[in-house]
Amino acid sequence: MGDKQSRELYDRALSVLPGGVNSAVRAAPEPYPRFIRRGDGGHVIDADGNRYVDWVMGLGPLLYGHQLPDPVAARIQSEASAGPMYGMPTEIEVEHAEFVVRHVPSVEMIRFVNSGTEATVSAIRLARAYTNREKVVVMKGGYHGAQESTLVEGDSEHTHPSSPGIPSDFAKHTIPIPFNDIEKAKQVFEAHGDEIAAVITEPILANVGIIPPVDGFHETLRDLCTEHSSLLIWDEVITGFRVGGLSCAQGKYGIDPDITTFGKLIGGGFPVGAIGGKAEIIKEFTPSGDVFQAGTFSGHPVTMAAGLESLRYAAENDVHDHIHKLGEQLRSGLAEIIESQAPEYTVAGTDGMFKVLFTREGPASFNNHCETGCTQRSGCSRHEYCPKSGKDVKQGETERWKRIFRPAMLEQDILLSQNQFEAQFITYAHTEEDVNETLEAYKEAL
Ligand SMILES: *Cc1c(COP(=O)(O)O)cnc(C)c1O
Repeated sequence: MGDKQSRELYDRALSVLPGGVNSAVRAAPEPYPRFIRRGDGGHVIDADGNRYVDWVMGLGPLLYGHQLPDPVAARIQSEASAGPMYGMPTEIEVEHAEFVVRHVPSVEMIRFVNSGTEATVSAIRLARAYTNREKVVVMKGGYHGAQESTLVEGDSEHTHPSSPGIPSDFAKHTIPIPFNDIEKAKQVFEAHGDEIAAVITEPILANVGIIPPVDGFHETLRDLCTEHSSLLIWDEVITGFRVGGLSCAQGKYGIDPDITTFGKLIGGGFPVGAIGGKAEIIKEFTPSGDVFQAGTFSGHPVTMAAGLESLRYAAENDVHDHIHKLGEQLRSGLAEIIESQAPEYTVAGTDGMFKVLFTREGPASFNNHCETGCTQRSGCSRHEYCPKSGKDVKQGETERWKRIFRPAMLEQDILLSQNQFEAQFITYAHTEEDVNETLEAYKEAL
């Protein structure tokens, strides 16, 4: 059906939106992105009427694809028609908070905000205030949104902002270490332990491929934080209520963070973020405490309705089971294809996420390998080849992925993430047919 409409829209967009988009990654597909007209279950239809199996899924917020269950749609409509928002408290904020507190073991109290970025900004401010310290340890290749304290590059002792416009002083307070590097984490605490306010990490790096933790990594961070009275912040903006079901990644990995940031799924497709954790810490936010935190739209009733009813529906139906089952079919199918067609590539992902990473080297045999996506299991024949850090993914064949592979998938009506680094998401709306069609397309395109 062609792409004339997308091209024309992008041409118009370039005049009035910087780079033609409102969030950088959307412009990554070349020569221009597909503009989306509407969704339909596990599919999207673009401006020219092309229909694709959609694995972008809003970049993470959609548990039901483009098809909201009836009770979710009904509650959203009733909240929206009652009046969009009030700037005064509503019952549904309390209900949503109660839901999260009931299901996530480490969360006793929560503050809702409007984006994941806002959540991590507030979490870091809170940790600095609570500990009366300034330094923050971050993971290289980790992503915490567009915020000053974490847009930092370099080695632990030589840092600089990763974007113009950020005062270099900000970077002085940030210590980047490689994800999964237990020794480096220990060294950094040895050198700076009593200055570190917090370690912030994703449970699984999910914005630079998908990289699971090696055995003992998160346990080490938890122990180091406890020993040095620093706070452990888990950024579950992408993993929350997706990995590990309703107990989130912290339930799956058995880690108890002091603060957790949420976003994406907890708003059911509407803009959201949240900072949860131990009551003693969270109540330091204004007005119960002194750490300034506020927002006109925070706890927006329509967002709360979408998020709460989405999660409630998942609690009462086989939503996560369906997603995990399809995820395993997809990842094990991909592993078989990789084994015969591209043994140097790595199948990554867990639960409702998947990705084929275009790594450059693989083992001679696939004996005893992780069959449904890399888990960093030390007995796996691929263990020494699978990426452990963001750097490992960045050294892969990213140009091949972008220029050859993604377009070849698009031609077969399969819409993958906009670049090699974003994760791809399985939803309740996807079917076995979508999985099979996608596997056939990988066979063709790899
Ligand atoms: C998406 C994401 C963010 C940023 O959330 P926004 O809502 O885009 O501001 C922060 N942290 C992680 C782990 C994310 O995946």
